[in-house]
Formats: sequence, structure tokens, C-alpha cells
Amino acid sequence: MPKDTRPTRYDVLFEPVRIGPKLAKNRFYQVPHCNGGGYRDPSAVVEMRRTKAEGGWGVIFTEQTEIHPTSEITPFIEQHLWDDRDIPALARMAEAMKSHGALAGIQLAYSGINGPNLYSREVPLAVTGGPILTFTSDPVQARTMDRADIRDLRRWFRNAFRRSQQAGFDLICLYGAHGFGILQHFLSRATNQRTDEYGGSLENRARFLREVIEDAREETKGEMAISLRLSLHEAGDLGFSNAEVRDFIEMHGDLPDIWDLAHGTWEACSGTSRFKPEAAQEDLVRGIKALTSKPVVGVGRFTSADEMVRQIRSGILDFIGAARPSIADPFLPKKIEEGRFDDIRECIGCNICVSGDMTGGISRCTQNTAFMEEWRKGWHPERMAPKGRSDSVLIIGAGPAGLEAAHILGKRGYQVTLAETGTTLGGRVARERTLPGLSAWGRVADYRTGQIAPLPNVQTYLDSRLSADDVLAMGAQHVAIATGAHWRRDAVARLHLHPIPTDAAMPVFSPDDIMAGGGPMGGRVVLYDDDHFYMGSVIAEVLVARGCRVEFVCPAVKVAEWAENTLEQATIQRRLMELDVTLHLSKAPEAVLGDAVTLACLWTGRTSTLPCDAVVMVTSRRPDDALYHAVRARNWAAAGIQSVTLIGDAAAPAPIAWATYAGRRYAEELDAPDRGDALPFRREIAELLPQDPA
Ligand code: ADP
Ligand code: SF4
Repeated sequence: MPKDTRPTRYDVLFEPVRIGPKLAKNRFYQVPHCNGGGYRDPSAVVEMRRTKAEGGWGVIFTEQTEIHPTSEITPFIEQHLWDDRDIPALARMAEAMKSHGALAGIQLAYSGINGPNLYSREVPLAVTGGPILTFTSDPVQARTMDRADIRDLRRWFRNAFRRSQQAGFDLICLYGAHGFGILQHFLSRATNQRTDEYGGSLENRARFLREVIEDAREETKGEMAISLRLSLHEAGDLGFSNAEVRDFIEMHGDLPDIWDLAHGTWEACSGTSRFKPEAAQEDLVRGIKALTSKPVVGVGRFTSADEMVRQIRSGILDFIGAARPSIADPFLPKKIEEGRFDDIRECIGCNICVSGDMTGGISRCTQNTAFMEEWRKGWHPERMAPKGRSDSVLIIGAGPAGLEAAHILGKRGYQVTLAETGTTLGGRVARERTLPGLSAWGRVADYRTGQIAPLPNVQTYLDSRLSADDVLAMGAQHVAIATGAHWRRDAVARLHLHPIPTDAAMPVFSPDDIMAGGGPMGGRVVLYDDDHFYMGSVIAEVLVARGCRVEFVCPAVKVAEWAENTLEQATIQRRLMELDVTLHLSKAPEAVLGDAVTLACLWTGRTSTLPCDAVVMVTSRRPDDALYHAVRARNWAAAGIQSVTLIGDAAAPAPIAWATYAGRRYAEELDAPDRGDALPFRREIAELLPQDPA
């Protein structure tokens, strides 16, 4: 659709806005976000940012860039700007960001009380010393900075400003949000207990920030724009509260060139859709614009163009800040600009991207399968490889894997037949979207269904359960089997590698039963969670809503342990406790009796008996691969089939992002030359310095 067919009410999003000495071409502002690649995978990050430039963002930022080895957050992989040798990688980044007219920004971070320095082994320096406040309770304390240290830190910031300018960036973002950046540690009475001129009154606590911003302007000759990224609210009696943030902005309205305001903790700022709606920080940010003449940017997992317009028109924000929406759809601005609203790939708010940073892996995105594969594999969020030599593909199963494969192969130009047993498209997503808090997950199916619909070369057959005979008779050249998985009922997962003794008199259910509307409708239910992610707690919520008394049994010391990586663990545990779910932590069932479950303590081995009316096992899933094996057992080559491939949960059950990735990979690599044992992705290897002479 040409640009001028976009309804005029969205035009406001495309107005240029001044940020100090720079002019942003529109109001789409990709705030700094991590990606698990950082200094380890520089070119992968460069190409990821380049797709955002191509997708029309007006401002694009790096992730947090650590300015000095006295403050680093290993094991998390961010950027480094420790000396001049870091400049070339960052220069390549800035060039990529600016390649389509965006402003290139670098976020500079000094973590203070948040940096354990596990790699650099330097003594951590903080505004006020004390134990390092990381997620991981590192047994390390920071030393309180004296005046000489503060002078050093100003110089290190100056070095970083100079190097950032040398690398070609337009904007500097000073990190003082999420409790992670030292600028916030200075501002907050919780972390600043100093009695010198840098502590005490708000005026004093803001001194370092004023000095650093002055230094930045001087060092960059006023040519770079300065953004200050602040938390909108720090909890606790002494935290830098929303009221104090407002006082501070009123006192220092003109200090930075733009105010980048981000909720409170990272958990609060990047809440999942299960717990936080779009525009969740509105109450905290409303009215701040009136306190300053400088533009304000805020986040809120914005994917709706109408919501974005409302944020601007009602004077809440000047820029639409986005991290996750820009990951899920780097072309969000362009699609809005061209009025292609149905093509927007909306973020589902699952935080699988965050888990890439938290685990030290490389981030992936449930929705954007190309995320962080732009360079490693040459994938693109909007374009795919041209069609290869073969013509037809049969895909069985329309879950996330099958749908993504059909979508990509359809756009590549193959004749695609997608067969699905059920009467809806989406597989597990069609079921899980009905669970409490997970409705946004349906976007995985909606986006792909919408993209496939207009493609004449993709035929979709619902209500079509295929057998091996059917597959052989269909005449497709390639067959992808994406038939999914189902939850087990025999307690087998991580702790129990074999089924436990179970009395047939006890009704035992799985999440599949509950999602299908079956399972207990009341009474006392033991829910055994050896999955450790979201499903156990979501099923507990369903059972509570049905009037069941839920006994939540989990071998870990906390519920939903893996959800630390999606920043949800604490919220999940709170939710269960508020729902009066009884938690039996560090415990696991040894046997299911006719009217009770025998529990064993993981530490002492002591057993106890927990009477119940039913049991729900949230443990592990069994791949539905029978069709695959049945086809493989036949002479499929004689039927003209060139390949039969198992993908997604049917190959190995995992989160939805793994299934969409498997679908993309199958579709992208069909007809590609066989690479043999070659590494399936590109990587960079640390530069070897010349060996010292002995
Ligand atoms: P994934 O996450 O790997 O995409 P899902 O479980 O979400 O897996 O989806 C698998 C889909 O495959 C389900 O919708 C299921 O109904 C469908 N399916 C399973 N077996 C068959 C079959 N024999 N023929 C057609 N569809 C099937
Ligand atoms: Fe959104 Fe999930 Fe993708 Fe992150 S991984 S950008 S939360 S869809």
C-alpha cells in the first residue's frame, strides 16, 4: 500500500522531533535492549540493528555498554567500551544503525553496586559500598568511592563519550534505570548514604549527574545529544520514588536533551503480557512532560498504532519507546507508515528474548524467528531465501512449527499443503491462548494465519488427520511432520526418570486435559510441577478458579524457577500465594495412592502423606512422532517423496519460540546446498594477539 493511503490520524507518528542538536526523523524510538550477543557476537548484533534501521525506526540504541572494567556484569553479555580497541565494532554498529536515516545511540553504563566484576576481578566501586545487588547474590561487596574515585569515574565517562563520538554515534544514553546504573544509585537515598557533597539533599544526590552531563557536552563539543534513562519509580521507603523523580525533573528539566523513562525494576519495566498490559507505565509517566521542555520517551510494549497515537496526542509521550515490539517486528514503523497493519508481527510479551540475556545464550524471539540470525544465518525478518529447485511440500500439523514453515515456504513460492487434525490453526497456541493471562500468545497463530491466507500457493486443510497411507498418496516432494507433543501423566520429567507407582483409583490429569476442559472441578488437588516454567502456575490458577484447593508440589526451592529468566518468577510465586495455593517446595511425590500422594523431602528424604481427590502432573511432554516413524518405515522414496523431516515439539518439545524457529529453519533451508559437517551458523572468534617472545 503506498504511503499516502495511511489514515491521516497516524501522521503524527511520523513527525520529525528534535533531540538537542539532532533531529529524529519520526517518533519511533528503539530503546536500549540486550540481546545475549554483545561483545561476543559483534556482527550478529550489528546486522540485527541494521534490520531496525531498514524497518524505519527514527532512533536506534545499543544495549548497555560497559565503560570501564571496574564495573561489569558477567555472566551477562553486554557491550564493552573499555579502550580504543572496542571502537571498530561499535563504529560498525553506528554505521548500520544510521544506514536508513535513523539516529544512532549508545547506552553507557557503569553498574556500581550492581557489578560483581567476576571477569575483570577489579574491586567494585559504588556510591555507598555494600553487597553487590545482583540477581545471583554474588558473595562480593563494593567499596565506597572516595572523591578521587569520583574524579576517576568522571574521566572514564569522558573517555567513553569521546570514543562514542569517534565511533560515529549521534546520541548518548546515560543509564540510570532498573536499579542497574550508577546514576540511579547516586539519585536514590536507598543506595546513596553519603554524607559529602554527593549525598543528602536531592540537589547533592544529583551533583554527579550534573557534572557528568556537563562533561559530556564539553567532551563532545555539544555535538551529541544526551539522553537520561531513569526509572520512573524505585520501591521502598528510601527508593527514588515517582514523586522524587518528578521533583528531580522539575529542578533539572533541561539537563539532558531527552528524558527516557522506564518503569522501575527491569521486572516491572519488562513485565510479561501475563501480568502487564500494553501501556502499563502510563500512570507513572503522565504529567512529566509538563515539567520539562525536553522530549519524553517511554515504553509500554506498544504494538497498537492507535495506542501510540493516543500516547502522543494526549501529551503523555513525545516518542514511542520500544524494545520488545522492535524485536518482534523490526519493521513496525514501516508497516504503520505504509498502512500495512495486518502485517504487523505483534510481540506476545513472553520474554523469551530476555531469557537469552539471562542465560548467556543468544536471544531468540518467539515471533521474529530471524532475530539474532540476521548475520549468523543470513535470515531477515521480512525476506526469505528465493525458491529452490523443488516444488511441493506437505506440512502436517498447524502448530507454531507447521504454521511458520507454511508461512515461509509459501512466501518462498512453494506449493504448500498444510494438514491439521483439529478444527483451528495454532496447535498448542490455540489451546494455551485460552489459559489465564496468555491470550496474547494467540498472536503467534494469528500473524501466521493472516500471512498465509492471501497466498494462493498455500492450501490449508482442517479436520484432516493424516495417516502414513495418506502421506504417501499425497504426492508431495517433501514432507515436514510438525505433529507436536502431549503432556505425560506418569510424573516422568527431571526428578523421576521413570514412572512412579500409581494407584488406578486416583484420577490423574495433565495440562492437556485441563486445557480441553476436563480434570477436577473442585476438591483437593495435588499439582506436581517438575516443568519449572509457566504451565504449573497457570494450571493452578485454572484449578483455583474452578473452586479446587490446590496443593502445589515442586522439587525446587521456589516455584517456576526457570521463569527467573523471563523475569516472572517472583510475580508467579506472589500470585500463587495470594490465591492461597499451598506450596510444598523441595518435595516430590514418591507414589500416587488411591486417596493421597506420598511426598518425599528432597533434602532429608522424610516422607509425608498428602490426602487429595485428584492429581495434575505438569512434568514433561512426549513427542507425537508416531506418524513420522510410520512414514519412515515405509518405502516413501518409491512414492516420489524426497525428504521426510520431523520438526518442532514432535522432534523435541520446548517453548513455542523453539517451534517457530524449527519451522523457519526447515523452510529456509529447503533446497539449500548440503553443508555437510560445516557449522550451521557464522561466528566470530576472539582475535589472537601475537605470542610474547619467550
Ligand atoms: P509445535 O509446537 O511443534 O508446532 P503443536 O503441538 O503446537 O506443535 O502442533 C502440532 C499440531 O499437529 C496440532 O495442532 C495437532 O492437532 C496436529 N497433528 C498431530 N497429528 C496430526 C496428524 N496425523 N495429521 C494432521 N495434524 C496432526
Ligand atoms: Fe516479544 Fe516474546 Fe519476541 Fe520477546 S520473545 S520480543 S516478548 S514475542
